Amino acid sequence: MAELGVVSHPDNFQLFFTYVAHTNFDLCRTIDILRSNHREFDEAQCEELHTRFFSDKRENEIIERISNDLRAQLGSILDTVNKVGVDTRKYKKALDHFCSYVGDKNRNLSNLEQALHTLLGATREMEGVNRSLESRLTNSSSEINRLREDMENLKREAMTDGLTGIANRKAFDMQLRDGMMHAMEDGQPLCLLLLDIDHFKKFNDTYGHQVGDQVIRLMAESLKRNIKGQDTAARYGGEEFAIILPSTSLGNAVLFGNKLRQYIESHKVVTKSGKTIISKATASIGVAEFRPGEPAAKLIERADRALYFAKENGRNQVASEQQIEPSKTAGKRGDLKPPSSRGIAAE
Ligand code: GH3
Ligand code: MG
Ligand code: MG
Repeated sequence: MAELGVVSHPDNFQLFFTYVAHTNFDLCRTIDILRSNHREFDEAQCEELHTRFFSDKRENEIIERISNDLRAQLGSILDTVNKVGVDTRKYKKALDHFCSYVGDKNRNLSNLEQALHTLLGATREMEGVNRSLESRLTNSSSEINRLREDMENLKREAMTDGLTGIANRKAFDMQLRDGMMHAMEDGQPLCLLLLDIDHFKKFNDTYGHQVGDQVIRLMAESLKRNIKGQDTAARYGGEEFAIILPSTSLGNAVLFGNKLRQYIESHKVVTKSGKTIISKATASIGVAEFRPGEPAAKLIERADRALYFAKENGRNQVASEQQIEPSKTAGKRGDLKPPSSRGIAAE
């Protein structure tokens, strides 16, 4: 930080600690690009970076704008309704007056024309008030619809991964919690797959980050093409993905994992113009089944250990939790045993 002339305060410490710890790929890449372009790391630059990577400031600003607009709209509707209330009371008075005139046996008929004229005037005035109310309500309703769309876009944006367009980690966490709850309610199984691209670093190192990003995008596309219905595919981290399969047993999840693994293996990474960049990218997959009542972290941990097992065992394969914990009750970290063959091994 001293070398770059960065002012020392907690936000900047957080920024550069993350940079040095390499825990946020996008942040590291952005700072590296700025550094290689000899850009200054003044307060404005650092604040911009902090906002981009650590705060939900932009989201908060949009939410604040939406709620201010909404408040203004509701205020205007309330004003209009109050004004209509005053006019309606005035109109009621005019009607009452006319009724008592009509009901008066001693009424002077020569005043009838005048009374009708007054009533007609009051009715027209009321008609005008109603028309303006209608148009103000129409305006407000389209403005409120616009605000609702803004809100929905914001929600979608907050749940979507920027690079691949599939669900992000936040959306994954929510979907998994939801899925676990439903699995317990319905007594249905639920499986989690964690997928990690094999030797991904090599793609970055050999072809550059742009191609690395393209591999990640294509991997997301492969996941999207292979899931269906209520399944969720999400980008879990840099080059790691997660798939939630509700109403799926461990055996079927492993079969699915293998189908996906083969699909990935048989698809080339090509540029938009059709030029092959990488003839084969492979992935390793860990599969675990939800045990009713357990916390999400436990399920993720088992899928992660199965993934690690698949990596250790030669990559480009699917491993299930049964390979790391052959018996659910006896399962311990130390039970690691290599499977007899690559590929499907849960059955
Ligand atoms: P393994 O088979 O053991 O998974 O090896 P690997 O090389 O895939 O795994 P490793 O964890 O060593 O490297 C992952 C690399 O992915 C490190 C990081 O630079 C890169 N990476 C993470 N996120 C992104 C991203 O969004 N875009 C690009 N291009 N690279 C990324
Ligand atoms: Mg990884
Ligand atoms: Mg990897």
